[in-house]
Amino acid sequence: MQLQGILLNKKKFQERNLIADIILRNGHRTSAIFYGGQGGGKKHKPSQLEVGNLVSFPLLRKPKEGQMQAIREWKLDWEHIEIRKNYKAFYLLHFYSELIRKVIPDEQRFDQNQDGEFFNLLSNAIFYLENSLVQNNFLKSNHLSLFLVKLLYYLGVYPALLDCLYCGDSLHEKNLGSFNFQEGGATCRSCEEQSSLEDLQLYSCLKNFKNIPFKELSSLRQGQPLEVSKRLTDYFLTHFQLFPRDLHSYSFIFN
Ligand SMILES: [Zn+2]
Repeated sequence: MQLQGILLNKKKFQERNLIADIILRNGHRTSAIFYGGQGGGKKHKPSQLEVGNLVSFPLLRKPKEGQMQAIREWKLDWEHIEIRKNYKAFYLLHFYSELIRKVIPDEQRFDQNQDGEFFNLLSNAIFYLENSLVQNNFLKSNHLSLFLVKLLYYLGVYPALLDCLYCGDSLHEKNLGSFNFQEGGATCRSCEEQSSLEDLQLYSCLKNFKNIPFKELSSLRQGQPLEVSKRLTDYFLTHFQLFPRDLHSYSFIFN
């Protein structure tokens, strides 16, 4: 059985090997030791095993719970070239991978019936990130916002935007009060007086970005304020009872 997946992280193991977490096409995670994965050796083979690259490898036997599979042969199916030359895009890639790693199921499963939503989300996000650098229209905050809006949607914690949390009146730009992350929605202005520009920006981003496919991102000329993606991240963290310190790349993205 041949498996295909994207590397979510990697660390060196012994002299020439790598340990990596991979999201498989079915959306499940697996951990593996890649023998000779650091590259080098007599033939000075390049590593190819970079976070964000797509690789395929055979599943020789199913690893037991808590075990890693041993991979001695693999094939590089897709790699990014431009992302690693642009530090903003590079951190973004690592941020995506970290978030995905937090949410995908830990249970190792190898059925290949259909592609998982989180696999599709990550592969689209990375492919169009690379593409935007090739075409020279990379806007970091737009990429990040789109990724986060879709992530919240697939996780089923997308905030309720249609009706006020308290009175149930329908919400729109003109009567928006404020967001309540804990409750997973927003209020109208009669229920809560205070409204801020940030609330409005978040509201319109959530509303507009949900239906934009990654391939259309490059046609947006205006960049979302970075504050919006910070609040989307806070929303995510609130729902998973996590803190910014739980994400290594958080400070590289927002500081
Ligand atoms: Zn209300």
